[in-house]
Amino acid sequence: MKISKRAADVPSSATLAVTARAKELKAKGVDVVDFGAGEPDFDTPDFIKEAAIKALKAGKTKYTAESGIVELRTAIAAKLEKENGLKYTPEQVIVNIGGKHSVYEAMQAVLDGGDEVILPVPYWVTYPETIKLAGAVPIIVQTDKKNSYKITPAQLKKAITKKTAMLVLNSPSNPGGFTYTPEELKAIAKVLEGTQVVVLSDEIYEKLIYGDTKFVSFASLSKDAYDRTLTLNGLSKTFSMTGWRLGYAAGPLEVIKAMGRLQSHMTSNPVTFAQYGAIAALSDTAAGQTVEKMRAEFERRGKYMSQRLNDIYGIECPEPTGAFYCFPDVSSHYGRNINGMKINGSMDFAKAILEQANVALVPGLPFGCDNNVRLSFACSLEQIAKGLDRLEKWLAQ
Ligand code: PMP
Repeated sequence: MKISKRAADVPSSATLAVTARAKELKAKGVDVVDFGAGEPDFDTPDFIKEAAIKALKAGKTKYTAESGIVELRTAIAAKLEKENGLKYTPEQVIVNIGGKHSVYEAMQAVLDGGDEVILPVPYWVTYPETIKLAGAVPIIVQTDKKNSYKITPAQLKKAITKKTAMLVLNSPSNPGGFTYTPEELKAIAKVLEGTQVVVLSDEIYEKLIYGDTKFVSFASLSKDAYDRTLTLNGLSKTFSMTGWRLGYAAGPLEVIKAMGRLQSHMTSNPVTFAQYGAIAALSDTAAGQTVEKMRAEFERRGKYMSQRLNDIYGIECPEPTGAFYCFPDVSSHYGRNINGMKINGSMDFAKAILEQANVALVPGLPFGCDNNVRLSFACSLEQIAKGLDRLEKWLAQ
């Protein structure tokens, strides 16, 4: 059957390709250490599940308003005000089918054919594809390892043209594991003043920050930043709710309304009883403690993983300040031949280590950074230790 050019041009997610091969090996009984996961290894807290079960039993099984029930949008607006210093009315909030859907819909609502979108490297794999699906052009900006891969005001200034419609910011970063400081974000906001650039601020990892890292929402920096920003967030990472498929966006009323119109024809509302679980997650006073427990465990693992990686010959890895990923530079091993497999880049590296040492990690190339690989620490410390022992031994050959 005929396939549209649009669909034919979309590659399947490279992160999923490694996971699929790792699964195949596991199914054959191979003991794979899996650093590929992009989701917390904790279960959704019980009080959230119970709220959704209660809603199901109460017959909350029908369509809702397409942008989500007003009680949930009110809870999100209250959360954004209390925790992020952002004032949005419930009408300025839309609930989507996961943060990924929020990103897709935001691109569709804002971008036109030929618009340019500034995308600093490394970027989450979904951004370039959703930009292209909206007919726009990703303008990839190379960043510097010495600046923890964060875009500088000078690099941003240089990338802005008359066609620039959007800047995508993701802090804390997937895959980089870095977090912009409030000062760095202020400097970026300053560069944007007087321009037409919309900021898409993906804040889905906001609660997973480590050490003395401070999180600040881009839109809270100034009136100018507020007016040009679409704030994106979701329940997946903070509350271990990846399978619930709930994300949200908040921003200027006309953009949120446009997203609502698109949603009304695409998916209608997010799953009804799941929305009640989300209200519990965002409103329950006990939620903070549950999230803190997960955060603290991630911090312990991230510290351990980055220290161990740095101790391995030829690997450089900054300690993560956010999210649950280490993103080491492994390029000093490129050009080597390990057990008959030539390592010429991150794809070869990931393939070879999976086949030869049964460690699943994600190549950096699809994130725009071929010198690096991504290791998730959303797995137990025991698994991390075991996987890094294997990595060390494999590279020492
Ligand atoms: N943004 C970033 C940066 C992510 O890493 C992810 C998940 N991998 C998402 C958004 C979307 O998550 P979800 O669709 O599960 O809400």
